[in-house]
Amino acid sequence: MAKIQAIRGMNDVLPDQTPVWQYLELTMRELLSAYAYSEIRFPVVEQTQLFKRSIGEVTDIVEKEMYTFEDRNGDSLSLRPEGTAGCVRAAEQHGLLYNQTQKLWYMGPMYRHERPQKGRYRQFYQMGVEAFGMPSTDIEAELLILSNDLWQRLGLGEFLTLEINNLGTAEDRVQYGNALRGYLLEHKDILDEDSQRRLEKNVLRILDSKNPDTQEILKGAPKLPDFISEASAKDFETLQTALKGVGISYIVNFGLVRGLDYYNGLVFEWTTDQLGAQAAVCSGGRYNGLSKQLGGTDTPGVGFALGMERLVLLLEELGRLPEEIGRCVDLYIAVVGSGVQIQAMKLSADIRRVLPELRVLTHCGGGKYNSQLKKAFASGARCALILEGDEELAEIKVRILDDAGETTVLGTPSVCDWLTKFFR
Ligand code: ATP
Ligand code: MG
Repeated sequence: MAKIQAIRGMNDVLPDQTPVWQYLELTMRELLSAYAYSEIRFPVVEQTQLFKRSIGEVTDIVEKEMYTFEDRNGDSLSLRPEGTAGCVRAAEQHGLLYNQTQKLWYMGPMYRHERPQKGRYRQFYQMGVEAFGMPSTDIEAELLILSNDLWQRLGLGEFLTLEINNLGTAEDRVQYGNALRGYLLEHKDILDEDSQRRLEKNVLRILDSKNPDTQEILKGAPKLPDFISEASAKDFETLQTALKGVGISYIVNFGLVRGLDYYNGLVFEWTTDQLGAQAAVCSGGRYNGLSKQLGGTDTPGVGFALGMERLVLLLEELGRLPEEIGRCVDLYIAVVGSGVQIQAMKLSADIRRVLPELRVLTHCGGGKYNSQLKKAFASGARCALILEGDEELAEIKVRILDDAGETTVLGTPSVCDWLTKFFR
């Protein structure tokens, strides 16, 4: 029978890679806690309508990338392609958006039926941050400072570039969309099929087109900054002053529109030139109308999501990992002979109680002295305790696992003291 394989684009993370993931997750948790953001968890499956109404019907995600299916009741459900919609839904449903502010984060898998390649998968992990109830630019600046802080903590600062834009209010977007459509209709024949289709329903997305002919036409198109309201323009200035004030460099990119319909006001993207075509590491922006659009309170919102696989790739490829990250064993307890098994278990328990931070691997599965010592070396542990005996245990040998191979003999009561001195 043929072996069953994982679904294309959905990755297993093997034990030699999980330490990198754990390091990244821990760094993010510490960062978010330092900014007093709270974690929220919500399902990976939602009603399809939630994503259609928030992300937008005429977007790549909803048109081509969603995993949508009917459940046994005949309801249309989808695996979440991103987190903002579910986060807003959950916060609204439980009254977290009523007359209050929230600073929230989440972490977990997202699903998009894309063409798998390096840095682009069908199941991928995002960490997302969403702030509700704050229409001001201070929270926008805080989100950018927080993300910048993460790159610093990970040692990736020099490899990431921040691009920002302001799409104006929802009304400004409509005005600009109309002007852009008017202009592009004059050049309709030259536009490719995708862009022609977007003309009616999502004209701003044409700005993102990779087609060189389209980009050529766009050079003569009406420009976004001429259409955004005075208030939006002023907010954008204030944000830029804040970024300069805290020393975060950025590029203003008027062509940055983002692929999701719910954005207005600020949009931004952190990109890298180290991952080929998969340049976007973290993206976000403001989505003030979204909760109302989903039938809830009219609450301002702003947030971002980052792609964890892309960060793992950067950390690995640029070698930005703390030295101790690969090691997961400190002490190896070899158990030679059948007479000492119970003593080994008791001693392991004592050591774990006295030295709770120590990672103690107790050998299971038998084997001769030499083969167990080999495994102890291979484990990366710094020292091994060797318990030997067919009837009972008389003494314990401690072997320091370096080239000198120093061995000491200890009595059972002194083991914990010796280890405490050795490891602290
Ligand atoms: P891209 O331009 O690479 O398609 P996107 O604009 O679709 O990215 P968002 O929807 O803004 O991305 O998601 C936020 C982040 O999630 C991205 O910046 C990226 O790091 C990551 N991401 C998005 N899609 C994938 C994917 N299929 N596989 C891995 N990471 C992804
Ligand atoms: Mg995409």
